[in-house]
Amino acid sequence: MDISEKNQKKPDITPSKKRKKKISYESLFNAMVLHSADVVLILEASGVVRFCSPSSLATLGRHPEELEGRNFFSIMDDKTAGEQRAMFLSNIFAGNPSFSRSFDIKNEFGNTVHIDAQLSNYLHNPDIKGVLITMRDTTRQKEAEEKAFFYEYFDPLTKLPNKESFLVRTKAYISIAKNRGKEFGVMALGLDNFKTINDMYGTHEGDEVLKQVGQRLTSSLRGDDVVARYRSDKFLVLFADIKSSDNIQELIEKAKNAFNQPFRLKLGQEVSLSASMGIAFFPNDGNDAGTLLQKAESALYTAKTAGKKNYRLFDAKLNKALLNRQKLEKELEAAIKEERFEPYFQPKVDYTGHIIGAEALVRWRLSSGRIRQPSAFIEIAESSGYMDAISDLMLKKTCSYIASWSWQGLADIPVSLNLSPKQFSNNNVIENLIELIKMYEIDPRRLEFEITESSIMSHEKDSIEKLFKFKEFGVSVAIDDFGTGYSSFSKLKDYPVDTLKIDRSFVSPLPNDKKASVIASAIIDLAHTLSFNVVAEGVETMEQMKFLDTIFCDQFQGYLFSKPVPEYQFCSMLAKGLPLLKSGILPE
Ligand code: C2E
Ligand code: CA
Ligand code: CA
Repeated sequence: MDISEKNQKKPDITPSKKRKKKISYESLFNAMVLHSADVVLILEASGVVRFCSPSSLATLGRHPEELEGRNFFSIMDDKTAGEQRAMFLSNIFAGNPSFSRSFDIKNEFGNTVHIDAQLSNYLHNPDIKGVLITMRDTTRQKEAEEKAFFYEYFDPLTKLPNKESFLVRTKAYISIAKNRGKEFGVMALGLDNFKTINDMYGTHEGDEVLKQVGQRLTSSLRGDDVVARYRSDKFLVLFADIKSSDNIQELIEKAKNAFNQPFRLKLGQEVSLSASMGIAFFPNDGNDAGTLLQKAESALYTAKTAGKKNYRLFDAKLNKALLNRQKLEKELEAAIKEERFEPYFQPKVDYTGHIIGAEALVRWRLSSGRIRQPSAFIEIAESSGYMDAISDLMLKKTCSYIASWSWQGLADIPVSLNLSPKQFSNNNVIENLIELIKMYEIDPRRLEFEITESSIMSHEKDSIEKLFKFKEFGVSVAIDDFGTGYSSFSKLKDYPVDTLKIDRSFVSPLPNDKKASVIASAIIDLAHTLSFNVVAEGVETMEQMKFLDTIFCDQFQGYLFSKPVPEYQFCSMLAKGLPLLKSGILPE
């Protein structure tokens, strides 16, 4: 064997990459493209498909022949096509060598397929002259990611954010609030009797109730507010932009509203639920999300231990105010049942000092016999919804006194009653009052309602209609506290009212204050040109009375003549029939 032969038989030990074995790249690429699970496409700059690999059938439900020669973007819906085409063009014209895109396409079965695409720009490559796209169906992966995200941040039962998500959002809201110098509230809300529902009807029904609670809380709040569920029967609410110094009641009412109606179970029964609440405020009670939540929970715990349907604030000082309020609300409720509200009467006199009318002002007679003034309870009665019941009592008692005065043969004077703005804005207020007046069989001309100008102006068209109803029925209307609102005389002429009451703030500086004197006399002049009767409120001195008389004020009311007094005293004033001015008839 010669050497050369020997050499030839030597095994080939060169590393494979150095081996000069010829590989057909064409067959390799063909195999890769034709058998790849990814869809490979070559697009022209116009978007027309020049080549499409066979896997398009599995991924897009379309044969390659169906796509070749067609504009690729035409297989997408209009919105996606517009967006994707714009991105495609801007990338290739910018000369980006490669870029990636994600989009949804509907396959031919109508199912949405999520695609991750990698695009390589070979427009300048003389062999390809196109954009090579590799598309992968990542629908499953995306769904899994979304599911994982959902389970991490949402409560699967109510679909509300969970505690984690609530903390993230609270954190984000803290930075907004810090920048804007704002306050906001975090509420922990616990259902009071939820366990009973689970025990009585099963967890299936319990779940149904929880879902409904979530929906109701969400719909009773504003867009910026966040509702979350953080434990079986506990929810969290972020009240955006609510100050600790006010609005607390508003915040509690909003959450309470969700429990006004019973909840309907799947079986058809209805169950009532109540909730207890604990509230903490940013920044007063905490500067970070965790602390706020912890303090709201601790306030909820205090509320729960105090019994059902309770609410507590974390802040001790605020909490004390809230407790007082709750106590007063309970007292109000009991006092209404016991009909402890009664009218005191303050006379209105003419220039001779004789009584020509009266205003009924509410007083709360406590069981101790002490009297509580309206300033101590009207606002709370209004916001907790007790004012209507109080007004009904006032109307009932006033009507029975009017009837009794007639029966005793006393002067047939008209009596006015106050209607708060909230009451006046209620839909059925006029009809209800008219019904009640009819029931007490009182001549409607003996009654007048005092309404402030702002309550008329807030829903002007409705208000005017309501006022006409009173007028038709025969009850008169006075505008109370005139001058403190914004109504102009040009508006006043359209209001079907009979009387203007000039507010005490214009009367008390009289007669020495020039400006007040000019205003008072202008109001009276103009009121007279519109045929209104004018009453001056809060007349305390003889000088005020004299001055008002010189500028032709029609009636006077104030401590100069009498404070508001209980019915028996007013009755004896009426019976005496004497002028209420010691100096007798005015003016000299
Ligand atoms: P208002 O309607 O402006 O009633 C006049 C208030 O001024 C009364 O206070 C009256 O006692 C007081 N007053 C009368 N003359 C004088 C005076 O010469 N000097 C001073 N300093 N004050 C005088 P009151 O009774 O405490 O009532 C306060 C407010 O409570 C009333 O203001 C009215 O807005 C509201 N209010 C009273 N009763 C009722 C009611 O039955 N229903 C409603 N909705 N509101 C009522
Ligand atoms: Ca009044
Ligand atoms: Ca007044």
